[in-house]
Order: sequence, then structure tokens, then C-alpha cells
Amino acid sequence: MTAEFAAQFGKLIGPEHVIEEAAEREYYSTDISGRGDAIAALVLRPGSAAEVAVCVRAAADSGLAILVRGGGMSYSKGYVPAQEHSVIIDMRRLDRIIEINPEKGFVTAEAGCNWARLYDALAEKNLRTPFFGPLSGIQATLGGSASQDAAFFGSASHGSMRESVLGIEIVSADGNLFWPDNPASFVGDAGAFGIKTSVTLKLIRRPRACAFASFAFDDFPALLRAQGAMANAPGLAECFGFDPESHRNLIKSGFNLFEGVAALGIGRALKSAVHITRMKDLRFSLHVVTEGETDTETGQALERIAANAFDAGGTALPDIIPRVTRARPFRPIKALLGPDGENWLPVHAITPHAATERLVRCTEEFFAGKKALIKRHNIRVSFLTVLIGGQILYEPQFFWFDRLSVFHLRNVSDKQRGRYGGAAANPEARQAVAELRAELITLFAELSAAHMQSGKLYPYLQGLSAAEQADIRALKQRLDPRGLMNPGALGL
Ligand SMILES: Cc1cc2nc3c(=O)[nH]c(=O)nc-3n(C[C@H](O)[C@H](O)[C@H](O)COP(=O)(O)OP(=O)(O)OC[C@H]3O[C@@H](n4cnc5c(N)ncnc54)[C@H](O)[C@@H]3O)c2cc1C
Repeated sequence: MTAEFAAQFGKLIGPEHVIEEAAEREYYSTDISGRGDAIAALVLRPGSAAEVAVCVRAAADSGLAILVRGGGMSYSKGYVPAQEHSVIIDMRRLDRIIEINPEKGFVTAEAGCNWARLYDALAEKNLRTPFFGPLSGIQATLGGSASQDAAFFGSASHGSMRESVLGIEIVSADGNLFWPDNPASFVGDAGAFGIKTSVTLKLIRRPRACAFASFAFDDFPALLRAQGAMANAPGLAECFGFDPESHRNLIKSGFNLFEGVAALGIGRALKSAVHITRMKDLRFSLHVVTEGETDTETGQALERIAANAFDAGGTALPDIIPRVTRARPFRPIKALLGPDGENWLPVHAITPHAATERLVRCTEEFFAGKKALIKRHNIRVSFLTVLIGGQILYEPQFFWFDRLSVFHLRNVSDKQRGRYGGAAANPEARQAVAELRAELITLFAELSAAHMQSGKLYPYLQGLSAAEQADIRALKQRLDPRGLMNPGALGL
């Protein structure tokens, strides 16, 4: 059966772009969170929007479910098939930057283009997009990020990807290309409404100046108060916080917070407040980047932001973490594993900043009740917070010792593979993490939290009003009446 399909698709896009080998299909069908119940019958690698369209038409004629994979850097089973009778379309050959138009303020690129490539091409012309990529942007693609509604770089003031999107070209389940009037409805859809073949984003002038600051806090509520007060601060580009376990991870990875501090040139007011001398003494930390046209502008923005931190009880730290993060935003990804080679898996909730303190308190109570389970399986949990416009993303991250999956073996660094490639399987701990993650998602839903990266993990529809649910179902019915596009995604 597979051979018959392979020959058919080979005629459409060239046999060298059709993958039928079992191990390869298993790899493409596995994300960071592991395998699903099924492995796709074929993986297709079209090279243009027209080829995507013919692939979709042929797949639909054979009743095959259609999944799309960009950089593959997600962990919510978004591109993992729910049935064997499926094809995965790998978008990475569509990586051209089609038009950079500073006069009209837009850039259009094919959906398989990754963020690092776009960032470099725009930097050459002193341009940038407002949101300019997730931390995984060396691999993550524009189409994948649009389908996740990703956020990080630039997100404190420019929000998630949704706010930077001007237009999207889509191939729908009948194999037709179209350009929706309301592209935002297709952001965060996990590919359930169609395949994005190109994305048009806003352009801004690349900010000429950047300033950095970091602050220490004794407890999480104080950090959250500061982060909430900073929401929508003019010039704030990034604002993210770490808990003590995140600091332990950084230390184990060989990171020294105070390395080269003398050379960093932090503001006098901030420098005078530095009082922590060893990273291991650090409890909670918050890191900010401001950007603007001049050093005076970014410095003034930073002073206002520092006042928020000090008012909440924070003290200044050397700013090496945000400075290093920005020095090279898109670096090879090492964080697929913990510092001792553990498996890693995040889960998150997004709430208005006023609701985050309660969310964190409830999550801490949840973990307090799971102490014995967590100890039994030697699981560690760290916490990250990220400001996205007026909202805070709160992300517990699990670490546990386990075998490396086919996904890990292909994507971790050579050094990590050499050290941890032979790690023993630990299905009990893996199962415990899966259950903890699922229970947290239920708790987050009870607290009315929102999510990006919906995939097949988060209860997307349940979070919407009855009218919004009806609109989503109607859109799906109109675009994909046979339910072939990523069955199960968004709960559809
Ligand atoms: C180390 C690390 C750091 C990360 N940091 C961040 C971060 O800072 N911010 C953040 O938001 N996320 C982050 N992520 C999660 C993830 O990498 C991003 O959300 C990223 O945007 C996913 O892009 P991708 O191209 O890899 O998508 P994929 O994983 O390939 O796909 C994601 C979803 O989009 C769909 N899809 C992919 N391409 C298309 C297309 N062309 N048309 C329609 N649907 C499509 C897939 O079917 C799937 O449902 C991180 C992940 C890792 C491993």
C-alpha cells in the first residue's frame, strides 16, 4: 500500500522527495513529547506552494489524513498522526524569502523558512519583524510558529506571533490556495484549518539601541508583582523570570552569572544595588531587555522598569542572562535535554498578570501534594515566566532520567548523544510525567488559563464561549468537511 502511494506522490514531486523508509517515517511521526498511536504512511517534501497543493489533492483523493511539520520543535503532538492512514508534509524545502518591502512595511516568506534565516536577511537591511521568533528559532519555521501562536523575542511589547501577522497563504483540504481576509483566525490553529505556504509579517526598523537589566527576588510573588507592573512598559522587548531550579540548571550547564560583570557597563544605579555574589545564592530572577532608537531612550525605559522591580522588593543583578540571550538569539538547541542528560518536557498556562499569582499558588499546592510521586521517580521541575503583552506565560518544565527517543537522537548535540545516547529507558517516570502534565492542564483549565501550542494536548475548544466554538466548528466544516487536516488537533 505504502509503495503504491509512494509511486503516486513520486510522480507529483519527484521520488527523491517521498520518504517511505520505516525508521524515517517513525522519526517524522515523533515530537519532543514522544510518539503517538500511529506512524504516517509517507512523508512528503514538496518544494513549492503548487506542489503542496497537488500533494493535498492527491492525499485527499485517497482519504489520507494530512499533517504538516515545520521545524518539528513542538511538544504537544501537533504533527504526530492520530491514524496510520496519514501523510506528513515536511515544509522545510519552502524556505524562500519572497519579498522584503520596507516602504509598505511587510516581509513575505515561505512557511518553511526558519526564524534565524529571516532575522539575518532582515538585519542586513536594518529591519526586523516586531515579534521575531521563539527561542527555538534556529529550527522553528514561520508556518509552525504561526500555527502555534509562538512568543518570546520582542513579545513583551509586541505580543505573540498573531500580532505580527499581516497575511497568510493557505492550501485548504481541497488543494486550493487562498488568502483569508482574517489571517488571525488561522494563527494558533495547529494546522487544523489548512497548510500555511507563506506568511506575511509586519516590518519595523531594527532598533538601534538595546539595554539590559536583571533583578533578584526572594520569592515568586514578588517576582510576579514586578513582572505584572512592567506589563506594557514602553520599550520593553523581553521580560522573563526564573526560579531556583532554573538557576541550578544554568549552574550545572556551566553558566556563571557573574562572569565578566566588570566589562558589562551596567548603569550606576543598578551597579550599586548588586549584592548577590554567587549564583547558587540566587532565589528568583527577572531579566529584561529594552530597545529603542538611542541609548538615552533605552536607558530611560530601563530606569522606569527598574523602579517597578525595586518597588516589588527586587535588587539588581548583573545583566548577563538577557545580554547573552540577545547576543545571539538563535543558537543551536541544547535544551532538548536537561543538564544531566534528562528528558525535558514543558507545559504552560497563560493568564492576565493579575491572575498569575493565584495560578502559581494553586500550582505550588498541586506539586506539594505530589511530593512522594516526584521523589519516587526522581523528577525535577523548574519554572519559567515570560511576559507576552499584558499576559504572563507560566511554564513548569519537567526533567527525568530516561532513554533518548528517535527525536532526541536526531536533534541533540553530538556531545549529548555521545554522553546520554545509551541511557536506560524509564517508562514509569515517563508515565508519571505524562500524568502530572495532564493533571496540570486540567487545573489550568479550571483556572481559565489560555494556551498557545495547542496541538492535540490542550483543551482548545473548552476554553471558548459557545458562540466562539460554533464559529470554529463552522470554519473547520467549510474548509475541511471530511476532517482530513490534522484530525484530533484543537479537539476537532
Ligand atoms: C528549546 C526550545 C525552545 C522553545 N522556545 C519557544 C519559545 O520561546 N516560544 C514559543 O512559542 N515556543 C517555543 N518552543 C516551542 C516550539 O519550538 C515553537 O512554538 C515553534 O514555533 C514551533 O515551530 P516549528 O516550525 O518547529 O513547528 P512544528 O513543531 O513543526 O509544528 C507545530 C505545529 O504547527 C503545525 N504546522 C507546522 N507548519 C505548518 C504549516 N506550514 N502550516 C500549517 N500548520 C503547520 C504542525 O502541524 C503542528 O501542529 C521551544 C521549543 C524548544 C525545543
